[in-house]
Amino acid sequence: MDAGHYPQAVTDRHILTAVAWPYANGPRHIGHVSGFGVPSDVFSRFHRMSGDQVLMVSGTDEHGTPITVAADAEGITPRQIADRNNRVIVDDLASLGLSYDLFTRTTTANHRAVSQEIFLGLLKNGYVFPQTTLGAISPSTGRTLPDRYIEGTCPICGYDGARGDQCDNCGNQLDPIDLVNPVSRINGETPKFVEEEHYFLDLPAFTRALGDWLGTRGSWRPNVLNFSVNLLEDLKPRSYTRDIDWGVPVPLDGWRDRPDKRIYVWFDAVVGYLSASIEWARRSGDPEAWRQWWQAPDSDAYYFMGKDNIVFHSEIWPAQLLGYNGEGDKGGTPGSYGRLNLPTEVVSSEFLTMEGRKFSSSRNVVIYVRDFLSRYDADALRYFIAVAGPENQDTDFTWAEFLRRNNDELVAGWGNLVNRSVSMAAKNVGAVPTPGELTDADRALLATTSGAFDAVGDLLSRNRQKAAATEAMRVVGEANKYLSDQAPWKLKEDPDRRDTVLHTALQAIKDCNALLTPFLPHSAQQVHELLGGTGVWSAAPQVVETEDLDDGSPYPIITGAYDQAQAVWASTPLPPPGTPLAPPKPVFTKLDPSIVEEELARLEEKGTSGTDGGA
Ligand SMILES: [Zn+2]
Repeated sequence: MDAGHYPQAVTDRHILTAVAWPYANGPRHIGHVSGFGVPSDVFSRFHRMSGDQVLMVSGTDEHGTPITVAADAEGITPRQIADRNNRVIVDDLASLGLSYDLFTRTTTANHRAVSQEIFLGLLKNGYVFPQTTLGAISPSTGRTLPDRYIEGTCPICGYDGARGDQCDNCGNQLDPIDLVNPVSRINGETPKFVEEEHYFLDLPAFTRALGDWLGTRGSWRPNVLNFSVNLLEDLKPRSYTRDIDWGVPVPLDGWRDRPDKRIYVWFDAVVGYLSASIEWARRSGDPEAWRQWWQAPDSDAYYFMGKDNIVFHSEIWPAQLLGYNGEGDKGGTPGSYGRLNLPTEVVSSEFLTMEGRKFSSSRNVVIYVRDFLSRYDADALRYFIAVAGPENQDTDFTWAEFLRRNNDELVAGWGNLVNRSVSMAAKNVGAVPTPGELTDADRALLATTSGAFDAVGDLLSRNRQKAAATEAMRVVGEANKYLSDQAPWKLKEDPDRRDTVLHTALQAIKDCNALLTPFLPHSAQQVHELLGGTGVWSAAPQVVETEDLDDGSPYPIITGAYDQAQAVWASTPLPPPGTPLAPPKPVFTKLDPSIVEEELARLEEKGTSGTDGGA
């Protein structure tokens, strides 16, 4: 065991971190990762440090109409679009340090098989049924008009840009026939509706079971719970299959080989949480290992997303699970996997806007993760999202505020505390100093920093990440104040006292570094090394080139050896006195105020030449 490696007791608590699946029609922007990405990673890293057994899964959501629209526009296949964007998204999320145990994709053979098993389980229990419905065709060509090619006025909120499958304004799912004044996005003609057969999910059969379940979810964020409860007032059967040629085939004779019918992209995307867990288990060498997170009665499952996805996680996916378990009004028995757990909590963020405007790839009001990380550190973005992100209200990202948070808080607050303490110890002692007898001030600081794990941990366990980051930075402020008050640079004549002050400051820094590790995993590793530590403190995710377990096609996954990390959620002692310390390099980069004007100019320039069709 390394010096300074004091592993926390491992708990039996199994926690599934189910992270919303980024849609593979283009690269992701910082609004996306502020909703699903950073919050889920902070949560997972905190629980791993606490000794819990975390399984964090997601992948790219690659089916559905927008992918086929993009493929048509470029004259390539949907698979080629998906392959390209899957790789971009994998690289970006790994660069941001998001510690997925498995980040996969929905075009795997495994995902297809698991999605079909859920469909068949629902069908067997009577919660999926065939029904003749009106489907849209183009009068001029006679061909099926896919849902998202149809636009019209939302019958619920009156928004006039609603699409045939969903209203982006109110978030409700729609069918094309629901739209007021529907028109084809291809040529503006009014679609003709003809009778077709589709399969439907019997949502009304879950009104009671969903209500009972939501009735036990009092700890959710109030806006998420209220929205979810309100959805129950008027549940209608929802189309489980769609008119599209790109997606999971419907696993029934007479349907399996039809080119124009697939499972609805949203209904297969949410199954991804389960299929990714199963894929992870198969890759781990124990194909049954996923069951500890999905079937043990005392395991927990937290789902992270932006608020536009709440309906799919608090209504559609729980209904699919209840039906598969045989727990709706029609009864039934669990499918071949056995009974599956419902979400413990649906953790939804609000929206991030950009300089007062809604993020929009089509209007180029956007900064992609890749572009951001080409100019700024990942931890600077993670810090902004944690301390100033859209946790419980819509929040504006401004470059001026990003600059201020980076320079005043990360650099001048935390970075400067590390830098001046380690510099002084390196210059005067060259090693971790030997402490003498502690004074009341020394003991008070150490009580504050070691005591902060309870308060910050309590906030993190309730996903109050903004308050948790703020409290951790308040403790950093206490340590800075201690250093200014004790002024070890004035203690040349009293080296014993100087060394005691420096040792106390370095121990406080070690505690603060652990408190900040879930938020700032990259710099936490650097601070660990500056304090004389060796080995892995906070493990980084890895991009691994791999193959489909069933059909052999190549693709990249994100995974990692997170159990190698030394970081634990507790105060741990510094390396022993005498451990060499080197003069530090700055951990954070101070930004020049000119970046604000440069970035705003970039935004204006792009805002005049938008062509990208993604949202
Ligand atoms: Zn609407």
